[in-house]
Amino acid sequence: MNRDWLEKDFYKVLGVSQNASIDEIKKNYKKLARENHPDLNPGDPEAEKKFKDISEASSILTDEQKRQEYDQVRAMGPSAFSGQGGGFNAEDLGDIFGNLGDIFGFGGAGRRKGQSYQTNLTISFVESASGLETNVPLRKEVACSDCRGNGSENGTAYHTCNICGGSGQTASNQGFFSFAQPCQACRGQGSVIDKQCKTCKAQGVVIKSETIKVKIPAGVDNGTVIRLRGYGGTGDNGAPDGDLLVQIAVEPHKYFKRSGSDLVLEVPLLFTEAALGATIKIPTLEKQISLKIPSGTPSGKTFKIKGEGITPQGRRSGDLYVKVYLNPPQNLSRSAKKHLESFRDQFESGDTPRDYLYE
Ligand SMILES: [Zn+2]
Ligand SMILES: [Zn+2]
Repeated sequence: MNRDWLEKDFYKVLGVSQNASIDEIKKNYKKLARENHPDLNPGDPEAEKKFKDISEASSILTDEQKRQEYDQVRAMGPSAFSGQGGGFNAEDLGDIFGNLGDIFGFGGAGRRKGQSYQTNLTISFVESASGLETNVPLRKEVACSDCRGNGSENGTAYHTCNICGGSGQTASNQGFFSFAQPCQACRGQGSVIDKQCKTCKAQGVVIKSETIKVKIPAGVDNGTVIRLRGYGGTGDNGAPDGDLLVQIAVEPHKYFKRSGSDLVLEVPLLFTEAALGATIKIPTLEKQISLKIPSGTPSGKTFKIKGEGITPQGRRSGDLYVKVYLNPPQNLSRSAKKHLESFRDQFESGDTPRDYLYE
């Protein structure tokens, strides 16, 4: 899986409607499987492909949970994979990968895409806005060089499986036709190890630690998952390697908050600035700018500064919203206090700005 799901219409492949019952789906699958079974169409690559496609479609649509995930992915479109817009988190992706590893079409036994790995990466708010290139530690399974990946001592201490004759598959009859199944005796490998490779304990793979450079695009949000294709576990028997899913955690900023591509900043005003008006300096993520506060600005008023938000890679910039609030002066000097008292007395008329609450 994967993105393939966006392109593949499993319902169409099986010729059923999107709200078909499981029984209906199974019925159509059996019919199509009989028509296209490779045993009945030897040497016909088109039938073989069709058979693989309907097997894949059926394995998803007859499993209630997988069908739900598939429907979800199809409904959400590409955003299901971007990590933004609340798609799947890394864990969900891992699950889906795990489940799909179990699916095999005709002749696909033992050829699995490598496992997907997950790792977390914490970056600062400013880094998330500007993007960065950083190193991520990676522990990757690689083929054991001592046995060239086959798990036997020196890569030679093995013999061909005499149960399956080396094909790795045995036939089993199920209902209408026979299925190829991975050979139990050799676990689908086609060969049996006589003496184990000591380096990898017959696993054929060893863990290798390395760091890889990861490019984080500008504007990534908290929770974004970046997929690095091919940096996961080694695929079996030539299947593609798995992916590395890097889940980004963004540290909160001391002052800025993020809302989509917009930034929100709360700024205190002296009440003289609010009453008389002022030009104040405010920070953006990268510089300082001036903001004109008109006289009589109430607490809570928000000013929009166009284009000073976050600029996600390939998209337009968000805006900066500056919300002001009144911050009464602390620790007044005696003379300042006198001035304020005379100011109050000049305005005292018996009315208060709260009178409307009691009307
Ligand atoms: Zn065998
Ligand atoms: Zn080995």
